[in-house]
Amino acid sequence: MTFGTAVRGAASVSHPVKAEGSEKANPVLEVRNLVVEFDTDDGRLRALDGVSFSIGRGEVLGVVGESGAGKSLTGMSVSRMIQPPGHIAGGEVLLAGKRIDQLPPREMRQIRGKRIGMIFQDPMTSLNPLFTVGDQLAETMRVHLSISRRAAWQRAIELLDEVGVPSPADRVNAYPHELSGGMRQRVVIALAMCAEPELIIADEPTTALDVAVQAQILDLLARICDEHGTSMMLVTHDMGVIADIANRVAVMYAGRIVEIGTCDEVTNAASHPYSQGLMGAIPTLEDRNEPLLQIPGSMPRLSAIPRGCSFNPRCGQAFQRCTIERPSLLYADGRQVACHLYDSVTGDEPT
Ligand code: SF4
Repeated sequence: MTFGTAVRGAASVSHPVKAEGSEKANPVLEVRNLVVEFDTDDGRLRALDGVSFSIGRGEVLGVVGESGAGKSLTGMSVSRMIQPPGHIAGGEVLLAGKRIDQLPPREMRQIRGKRIGMIFQDPMTSLNPLFTVGDQLAETMRVHLSISRRAAWQRAIELLDEVGVPSPADRVNAYPHELSGGMRQRVVIALAMCAEPELIIADEPTTALDVAVQAQILDLLARICDEHGTSMMLVTHDMGVIADIANRVAVMYAGRIVEIGTCDEVTNAASHPYSQGLMGAIPTLEDRNEPLLQIPGSMPRLSAIPRGCSFNPRCGQAFQRCTIERPSLLYADGRQVACHLYDSVTGDEPT
């Protein structure tokens, strides 16, 4: 397993106060029972199996899990960027109450640039090396907003300033290769923000950066969400990142969500044995001399998802039922958990 370098309890990001989640009242994003499958030589493989969650206005939902859990695929599915042979085989995705999972590709492209901003691990995924950052920002604004060339250029300079690019009136003329990795990621954040989207999907946005720069970028993302009321789905394998800026956390395993709760609940008192294993693998300042927990084994291949609870071969608390029956994601102690250990205390959504 590879986990992040951030140390739980260390002073890192001085982000704005985390807003309480408002996902139930007026969700910006709702994902209902999402199923994604891949047609392969080995047959049809299910990569996402009934994923459901919502994100409220201004809320940051962290999506965590080991490599292969399905967290990046969930982000790609919401933004409809899955490439064949992958496809959405079931479920619904709603943006501000309207379904977007069945829109024609042209309409979806409009939504991606305007209402959903994307930030990837490698800034060069989003930047064109042949154009200046100003050209790219201004062009993106002109595609999605009714704005003059001159106003778009001026707004590009303001956006670069807002995301902390020094000397923005000069840097607006720079090509991506003339900027550091951290500066490029700031430009990508400006690109994602330039049409004032309701939702940002950030997939490992700090993984490729130095630790010091990581903290600055997280700080920036948290501030932007707070100031603009933008919601964010933050996909990461790094629990330190989650602890820094997420309001709620969804833990994924083998294509399913196994636990969703507030950041405090999941990082400090995880319920699901897999979440407990993930959190036990984060070093803390208090326990720096204690050995870190390790989850034995590895994530199953899509073609070999175990029967029953897919975590059962790695779970120290598994019992017979776990090898037969797949647990549902049910409410327990105010959060949602998919584990037979909580069957006696789980139920439907509290009213
Ligand atoms: Fe472990 Fe069983 Fe819970 Fe799965 S359902 S996490 S195997 S105790």
